[in-house]
Amino acid sequence: MPKEWKGIMTFTEQRFGQIEEVSLELLGGARTLAEKTGGDVSTFLIGHNIKNLAKELIAYGADKVFVADHPSLTYYQSDACTKIFTNLIHEQKPDIVLIGATSIGMDLAPRVAAKLQTGLSAHVVKLEIGPDGILRQIVPGFGGNVMAVVTCPEKRPQMATVRPGILKKIAKDESRQGEIIELDVKISEEELKAKTLEMKIEPPPELPIEKAEIVIAGGWGICDKECFNMLKELAKLLGGAVGGTRPVLDEDLIKEDQMIGQSGKIIAPKVYIGFGISGEMHHVVGILDSDTIIAINIDSKAPIFDFVDYGVIGDAKEILPRLIKKLKEKLERKQC
Ligand SMILES: Cc1cc2nc3c(=O)[nH]c(=O)nc-3n(C[C@H](O)[C@H](O)[C@H](O)COP(=O)(O)OP(=O)(O)OC[C@H]3O[C@@H](n4cnc5c(N)ncnc54)[C@H](O)[C@@H]3O)c2cc1C
Repeated sequence: MPKEWKGIMTFTEQRFGQIEEVSLELLGGARTLAEKTGGDVSTFLIGHNIKNLAKELIAYGADKVFVADHPSLTYYQSDACTKIFTNLIHEQKPDIVLIGATSIGMDLAPRVAAKLQTGLSAHVVKLEIGPDGILRQIVPGFGGNVMAVVTCPEKRPQMATVRPGILKKIAKDESRQGEIIELDVKISEEELKAKTLEMKIEPPPELPIEKAEIVIAGGWGICDKECFNMLKELAKLLGGAVGGTRPVLDEDLIKEDQMIGQSGKIIAPKVYIGFGISGEMHHVVGILDSDTIIAINIDSKAPIFDFVDYGVIGDAKEILPRLIKKLKEKLERKQC
């Protein structure tokens, strides 16, 4: 008789031999869901010289840890990881598969879902089991204005990526018992179509946006290098930090840890100033705790104006250099 789809499997992400926090959170979330679904909580750990991490995963809630260890897997390799994880899911048939919504998770999850021909909800903010036993995957939709409940009633497994900080890890219990299963990994060079050759840890910014008292944020309305250099100059003059929206991250004008909003950082500075930002809920949820919100937008009907303490209707590209000039003059006068 074919094995039935049962239990929950998570993907454990490790970088340089350190388990990513979100992977422990997934285990904690999986344990809570498993109280209703029954079945094991298992996890898939991949890398090289990482077997020692398996015990930690058991201490954080895994009943089984499947370990894929191979010298070619020192860095995350898309093709190999997709293949090994997909085969494992085929074999173990977990009813639910959870992956962290990190850059690696966002690369892996759709590949695996496509190979398994099942559904995938991205950036889930809540998970629960419905009365029918089906996983309810809650994601903000339509610009974040509604919470959509996504289900996958027909295909298996039910797959979701969950953003870091949403699920709670359980307290570490080193006396927990679990099973460690080493997978027989065979990787041929031809299988690695794209190869990760090196991974570097970015040094953290001098002033992270979540710690800054003043945050100067830029959006698609000023999405060019020249404008962002002006934002940096303004932030420096005010002793603040620069942040931005998703489109400017996509254009490489900010780093991932500078994006503000639902899938970025939630900030609570004394002053937030947004230039050329429309005010979609995905972004706004990240700034609502600011003491003072100021926005500059060319469009008087931009939604951001519903949330501001001070709003300026105007061209940010003209306002920015004038603001910098005035501030510099003021600072120079102070120094005299
Ligand atoms: C699942 C999901 C998660 C997401 N998470 C996030 C998130 O965490 N953070 C985030 O930011 N986004 C997120 N997004 C994207 C989000 O929905 C919006 O698309 C994004 O916030 C819009 O960015 P924007 O305001 O820079 O661009 P736009 O919406 O394009 O707005 C540009 C604004 O600039 C104004 N403008 C144009 N020219 C000028 C000018 N010269 N001077 C002044 N104003 C000007 C325009 O009037 C417009 O209002 C997410 C989306 C999804 C689907």
